[in-house]
Amino acid sequence: MNKHTAKQDFEAAGNFSMYAKAPKIYPREVSGRFQRLRNAAVWWLLGMFYVFAWLSWDGRQAVLFDLPARKFYVFGMVFWPQDFFLLAALLIIAALTLFFFTALAGRLWCGYACPQTVWTEVFLWLERVSEGRRIERMRLDKAPWSWTKLRKKGTKQFLWITFALWTGLTFVGYFTPIRDLVARAGSLNVGGWEAFWVLFYGLATYGNAGYLREQVCKYMCPYARFQSAMLDKDSLIVTYDETRGEPRGKGKRADRASRAALPVAVAVDDAPAPASGKAGSGASDKGDCIDCEACVQVCPTGIDIRDGLQYECIGCAACIDACDQVMDRLNWPRGLVRYSTQHAVDHQRTHLLRPRVLIYGGLLAALITAVIVVVSVRTPLAIDILQDRKTLYREVADGLQNVYQLKLMNKSENERIFRIEVDAEGPYQLIGDDRVLVAGGGVANVALTVQGPTAANLRPHRPSVSVYAEDDPSVRRTEAPAFLGPEDRQ
Ligand code: SF4
Ligand code: SF4
Repeated sequence: MNKHTAKQDFEAAGNFSMYAKAPKIYPREVSGRFQRLRNAAVWWLLGMFYVFAWLSWDGRQAVLFDLPARKFYVFGMVFWPQDFFLLAALLIIAALTLFFFTALAGRLWCGYACPQTVWTEVFLWLERVSEGRRIERMRLDKAPWSWTKLRKKGTKQFLWITFALWTGLTFVGYFTPIRDLVARAGSLNVGGWEAFWVLFYGLATYGNAGYLREQVCKYMCPYARFQSAMLDKDSLIVTYDETRGEPRGKGKRADRASRAALPVAVAVDDAPAPASGKAGSGASDKGDCIDCEACVQVCPTGIDIRDGLQYECIGCAACIDACDQVMDRLNWPRGLVRYSTQHAVDHQRTHLLRPRVLIYGGLLAALITAVIVVVSVRTPLAIDILQDRKTLYREVADGLQNVYQLKLMNKSENERIFRIEVDAEGPYQLIGDDRVLVAGGGVANVALTVQGPTAANLRPHRPSVSVYAEDDPSVRRTEAPAFLGPEDRQ
């Protein structure tokens, strides 16, 4: 018994190999309204990624995450480690947005905006440019090695690797000024960590979008597994209208026999023509699905939407476009495969506004409003006042003195003069200079000496220390540090 027969016996007994090689999927190119939407999403999202890194704002890179300086620059705003609660809020907003749109419209994120989807679209396009359409790519892979095959495969690899490296370079360009990085990369003079992250991100893009593709969605993405918990029978999903389509077959339904003369063949690339080679040449009891498999050929995850909702379906709607094309060519109504809800398919009422949608939507609106308010009223100044622990207090002729370390962060982009004011109406006064010049996005450390009353009159006051911008007194921060005296000595 040879190995092959043993495998066949194994499978014939109802078993299957856990290590079966995943067959390569050759998604066919498709056009239509949802493909146009997907293309627009690819241009918009990747456009932002590749272009934003090159924009300047006030003489500095517009979007730059300067990790060594622990400052994030985003279109004129400077974010400091103290602002990281905003990052946490943004992550919560991202998660709530995902929940909200999934409850409302299924896997919109997966089909149109996920990085895996948009980069795979680009890699597929580069593959088409170098190796041709679906049927040509399939033939090329089966063909023995030749100069033509080598040239086409070499061109594809060149385009993929160049694009992946450019992606890695752009990614790192958000953490180190990109113009300088690209200039240094041209002379092979990048740092070790920079080179590592360019290659790592480039390799991840190359591997995920070039080779793993739908495997990432099927086996690596946790969202595919738990998204079913967020869907209900009122969520928008891509569905096949079984009532209308079945029984599928090459013939056509009797009640459609009198419709417009049908084309000789369904001109869908490599899809099979209707059975007789002359569609509409006789009525039958078939449904509207002519079993051309165009919807299967365009599916990037290689599933058949006619088998019902499957976790592998990323909701890209390519099968809708493909089936609409077939219906158009047959002069039949579109929508055999369409966006719908389970309730609509079951001829029940679809409820758009339901508790989970309202809760997700309400939380989302509240959080977005809060972040907008916090960012818009944010003071571009932060101060931190620490007591000098070496000298708790000094006794002078007419009172006591305390020394503090004032840390002053100018969170604006411009150089500014700040004024320090101590207890405008109280018994404390600042000893020394009250003006500090701080560069845009800079930090100044200033030793502050504050004189207060004698120990007997000390309690219960605390000096109020205010720092404000000379050119705009509304940019102000105030703290009231402890003022120590003899009774505080341990
Ligand atoms: S594209 Fe439409 S007609 Fe063709 S197999 Fe799919 S569902 Fe049936
Ligand atoms: S079945 Fe395939 S082509 Fe259709 S929406 Fe799902 S992933 Fe896209």
